Amino acid sequence: MTTITQERMPAAQHRTRFEAPTLQLLPDAVAENVRRMRAGGPVMAVVKADGYGHGALAVASAALDAGAEWLGVTDIAEGSRLRDAGITAPILAWLHPSGIDAALAATARIDVAVGSVDELAELIDDARMPVRVHLQLDTGMARGGCPVQDLPALLRLARRGRDAGRIDVVGVMGHLPQADLADPRANLPWVMRMQHARDTALRAGFAPLVTHLGATAAALHDPASRFDLVRIGAGLVGIDPAGRSALVGRSALAQAGRFTAPVVHGSEVAARTPIGYAGAYVTDRRTHLSVIGVGYADGIPRELSPTASVEIAGRRHRIVGRVSMDQIVVDTGDTAYARGSIATIFGPGGAAPSVQEWADWAGTIPHTIVTGIGARVVRSVA
Ligand SMILES: *Cc1c(COP(=O)(O)O)cnc(C)c1O
Repeated sequence: MTTITQERMPAAQHRTRFEAPTLQLLPDAVAENVRRMRAGGPVMAVVKADGYGHGALAVASAALDAGAEWLGVTDIAEGSRLRDAGITAPILAWLHPSGIDAALAATARIDVAVGSVDELAELIDDARMPVRVHLQLDTGMARGGCPVQDLPALLRLARRGRDAGRIDVVGVMGHLPQADLADPRANLPWVMRMQHARDTALRAGFAPLVTHLGATAAALHDPASRFDLVRIGAGLVGIDPAGRSALVGRSALAQAGRFTAPVVHGSEVAARTPIGYAGAYVTDRRTHLSVIGVGYADGIPRELSPTASVEIAGRRHRIVGRVSMDQIVVDTGDTAYARGSIATIFGPGGAAPSVQEWADWAGTIPHTIVTGIGARVVRSVA
């Protein structure tokens, strides 16, 4: 099946009077996180969803420079774009939302995870050149992956595909359901199932095999679940999926993004001034307001607790009134900021809010904050 896709509008070349809303990747932070998680063994840097919002190519490059051995993506097309950009490291794609493009997988040298007998049969039918395959097992999520009772049938078919020169089986993988727990006991049944699958595949004549199960939480908190490789995504950009609870007694990962936007409008208003749509907030005193040109279309959650804040000039200022599509208003008290003053939405260090704080303010997880950052926010690299 071929599809005609919409042409994206070309990026406008225009001079900005002040710095546009920008998510800047901090490659040194990615490198620090990779080195920390790689201390226990080889890692696959997962850069799906445009590198958790931070820019897939930039995050991938920083991770590879720091020693990551593999890259992981959701879709073969994402992997092939990394190839086009010159990346030579092994790349695995595991979900194939539009099915496996066997020709692209073979020519772009993208390994594919295959999680059912049907999917493997289709791939073997389609493949004209050998495609490298990781057999994916359901390890307790019922969200993709071959059920354990179908493993013998999957292996029989894989052998036929291999003997016909259509596939090379190079790995077996699973995915842990308790990806947000720093508790090895919760992983134990799935670690045992993975061992069983690996041993069964080895006995069926597939060797060598790279076996992989865990993601960031496992890399940080459960060395026994590592096998040959861990696939780290959230951790690359500084998110520990086990959250604050896991940080007790250990140092947090390094936050790898700084999201900034300029003040575009300022005013001084009297007490009892309603702000924004529906006047959902009313000032309780004479105060200064700064309007910042990012809103929910840029990934600022609309459902925020009243303590949500941004940092300007080293101080935190609360967001007041509803988040609009393209803008937010902050109450800056006695201080009037000039147009073009830079607000930090999130970033490492100082008074800047963290991604975890944004998740707490919005009642969500840090992953949805970073992957929700809109397309018009400029991505840059420090
Ligand atoms: C997203 C994903 C990962 C990475 O998970 P993190 O918790 O973000 O490190 C690993 N494996 C698979 C199959 C995934 O879908």
